[in-house]
Amino acid sequence: MLNLNGFVVDQVAETTTQYDVTVKVDSPAPPCCLAGVVLNGTKTVMFRDLPIHGKHVGIWVNRQRYKCRGCGKTLYQGVPHMSPKHEMTERMVRYIERNSLDRTFSALATELGLSEFAVRGIFRAYAKQQLSELEPVTLYPVEIPRCRHERQGAHPGRNAPEPQQGGRAAVLGWNPRPAEDPAHDD
Ligand SMILES: [Zn+2]
Repeated sequence: MLNLNGFVVDQVAETTTQYDVTVKVDSPAPPCCLAGVVLNGTKTVMFRDLPIHGKHVGIWVNRQRYKCRGCGKTLYQGVPHMSPKHEMTERMVRYIERNSLDRTFSALATELGLSEFAVRGIFRAYAKQQLSELEPVTLYPVEIPRCRHERQGAHPGRNAPEPQQGGRAAVLGWNPRPAEDPAHDD
């Protein structure tokens, strides 16, 4: 039903608007200190996934909780296919990134069963990452003429105006930044 490896579907509940899919995940205990970890109860978490048959999807996982014998830290069982930042599948995050440029946050949120706030947060993180991959380049320099007030040395609201020499600026464009070392490109 979910087409995700590593999950065993335990139970599916269906309402008119949503599928709630309870899954079992078989993943190894997370590593911490040398002393190892001990079982420390479970926590049920719902992750959102892309709609199926026009219905919202919640994937419910009863995550194993562990406590480290060395440092006392609480750790949780890893769940494959899930975003490390958002409580949803990676494929849902990618879907929002692809669609948030030409659809409203509100429309996407309604379609996916999320809050508009969550959709906007994913779009912003994506836009920031895309922008960071660009670097500014100078296309051509332009001269900026001095303004009339500055020429007359009587610019309102300015104390002791510096003699203005006119200005120089550049029209900027964006170039894709050269690819980083592909071996570390994640
Ligand atoms: Zn530890």
